[in-house]
Amino acid sequence: MPADPFFHAIAIDEDICIGCSHCVKACPTEALRVWNGKATLDETKCVDCGDCYRVCPVKAIYVAEKKKQIISPTHWNVALVPAVFFGQFHYGKSRNSICDAI
Ligand code: SF4
Ligand code: SF4
Repeated sequence: MPADPFFHAIAIDEDICIGCSHCVKACPTEALRVWNGKATLDETKCVDCGDCYRVCPVKAIYVAEKKKQIISPTHWNVALVPAVFFGQFHYGKSRNSICDAI
């Protein structure tokens, strides 16, 4: 069965969403809209940046833990690690050991 081409790490819990639109204003790709008082996601526009997750005041946006979809033996999984990530570890930790841990 082909994988969902628009699978995203974030999801919205409509039971918690209060329709405040903070996420809509924060989204850089205009992937979010509020319809009938609830945030909705246009999966064709979302780039999984996480900005909406950070600004939601009631934690209605969460990271979906569908690990079978994220870690699939039929797909290549790529992690783009920013350079500053390595700088937060104590001196003496090699770049390779941090990459191995990831
Ligand atoms: S993860 Fe980023 S691109 Fe996707 S809906 Fe949230 S703010 Fe928009
Ligand atoms: S920021 Fe949170 S509560 Fe506000 S509209 Fe978006 S998902 Fe709903």
